[in-house]
Amino acid sequence: MNQIQILVVEDDAPVRNLITTTLKSHGYRHLAAVNGQAAIMETASHNPDIILLDLGLPDMDGVEVIRRIRSWSNVPIIVISARSEDTDKIDALDAGADDYLTKPFSVEELLARLRVTQRRLALLQLSSAPGSSYENGPLRINYATGCVYLGEEELHLTAMEYKLLCLLARNTGKVLTHRFILQNVWGSSWNNDIGTLRVFMATLRKKLELGDGAPQYIQTHIGIGYRMVRVDDAQP
Ligand code: CA
Repeated sequence: MNQIQILVVEDDAPVRNLITTTLKSHGYRHLAAVNGQAAIMETASHNPDIILLDLGLPDMDGVEVIRRIRSWSNVPIIVISARSEDTDKIDALDAGADDYLTKPFSVEELLARLRVTQRRLALLQLSSAPGSSYENGPLRINYATGCVYLGEEELHLTAMEYKLLCLLARNTGKVLTHRFILQNVWGSSWNNDIGTLRVFMATLRKKLELGDGAPQYIQTHIGIGYRMVRVDDAQP
């Protein structure tokens, strides 16, 4: 039995019912809200563990709902949006959403996102001590010494690659937008720096990934950004 409680914010009744039925059959507890105001009220009064938030709501912009909730809560928020709404998705991630699902999505995708988010929650609770080290499969970062290892081998990263890796590692499981990464690594949000980011990401990957085809640690979200995955979450 899963003790996690999920708030489902969706004005479209068939989609809402599909989600709540899925949650119920997988042992999640759930609450539902049909608009932004109700979502904020439910969050304040019930303190859910995860929020699934449709971005297209009748009374207010989903991004505004995230901003308001983020003013007092760090609850993980997974946004749900249509494929055509990439800009909204990016705004939502920049406003503090953790992940996204694109409509139409499968029940398996929904459950996979929830598992990643739950694991992220559990890790956050475990590893709040600063100066500790990071482990993800054979990858190890010693934050105190600044050394990075892949299995037995030490990786020789440039200062920028190390900064980039640490940012991704500290946000494992969370989708980071180009803008977020640029602001945090380079202190800049110029759009044309995305080219620079790609170059650094490519050299970091060359050192980090084992090179058997698909990226293992760093997922590319085309047009949006990147995510560090736990290697055991990588693909179902
Ligand atoms: Ca909607």
